[in-house]
Amino acid sequence: MPTAVVTGGAGFLGSHLCDFLLERDYRVLCLDNLDTGSLQNIEHIRGDAFTFRNHDLIDRIEIAEPVDVVFHLASPASPIDYLRLPLHTLKVGSYGTHNALGLAKWKRARFLIASTSEVYGDPQVHPQPESYWGNVNPIGPRGVYDEAKRYAEALTMAYHRQQGVDTCIARIFNTYGPRMRPNDGRAIPTFVRQALDKKPLTVFGDGSQTRSFCYVTDLIRGLYALAMSDEHLPVNIGNPEEFTLLELAEAVLRVTDSESEIVFEALPIDDPKIRQPDITRAKQVLGWEPGISLEEGLRLLFSTSEREIASV
Ligand code: NAD
Repeated sequence: MPTAVVTGGAGFLGSHLCDFLLERDYRVLCLDNLDTGSLQNIEHIRGDAFTFRNHDLIDRIEIAEPVDVVFHLASPASPIDYLRLPLHTLKVGSYGTHNALGLAKWKRARFLIASTSEVYGDPQVHPQPESYWGNVNPIGPRGVYDEAKRYAEALTMAYHRQQGVDTCIARIFNTYGPRMRPNDGRAIPTFVRQALDKKPLTVFGDGSQTRSFCYVTDLIRGLYALAMSDEHLPVNIGNPEEFTLLELAEAVLRVTDSESEIVFEALPIDDPKIRQPDITRAKQVLGWEPGISLEEGLRLLFSTSEREIASV
């Protein structure tokens, strides 16, 4: 039975990854300090193959048993969280990534880092291929997240080149699905919550900025395919279908059959104007591409959100 360590395993993506690995007969050790994650995300998991350890990645990791693969996802991810936890975000991207890479080196395990499309900043190239170096404001409020991830990528490549660690880098684009916190500030859970509460949907700016949204099960399949590959250079994992924020709000209204109005609010500082992954490498290197359209994904999310709200 192979063993996987999932850092940030009690978070949105991490908990789906734990489910996916357990279904494939992995033993899973989930390390999380519950800063932005929750035990609720993993409470459905039963059986001896799963262990949760409340651990802050900033502290050294001690694990007795062999480990085959380390998925390093621990980090605040939503702007609300990293703006609230700026130093912590930098620390988990630096010390936390050192510790996770140190574990992979010690155990001779494959290592995957969950990086982000935010390494491209406010891009001047569209869509964004992995070869684009980005346009990040290092001293703006979002710099704590973007630069932590850029540093974590540099660190990962240094451990690979100098220490021979078998690493890979997933550049994840906006992903959505069940278990996102309704108040985490990201567009889809916010719109769905507002529509279900019969409140106006708040769109930033004039809503012409674009994003590309990947359904969580597609994303997790991509992360796993990358971890199982021999690739070391960054690979974009995301859905290349691109929508304006206004189109997204309209899609949420359609799917939720809501009559809420759309209102406009000031654009946050350094908010990227365009975002679309070029997934040519993911297709070539991993044979991966997403299969769930935005409308389909929103319907899946909406049916779960309705059930969750009904059970409260
Ligand atoms: P999330 O906030 O739901 O999950 C992050 C998890 O990391 C939480 O459970 C949190 O408690 C844990 N964590 C944070 N600091 C920690 C620390 N010091 N020690 C231990 N655990 C810690 O976020 P998510 O959306 O699931 O994102 C997971 C990863 O994927 C992050 O690294 C994020 O940067 C990356 N990512 C996500 C998206 C997305 O759209 N969801 C997009 C790009 C990149």
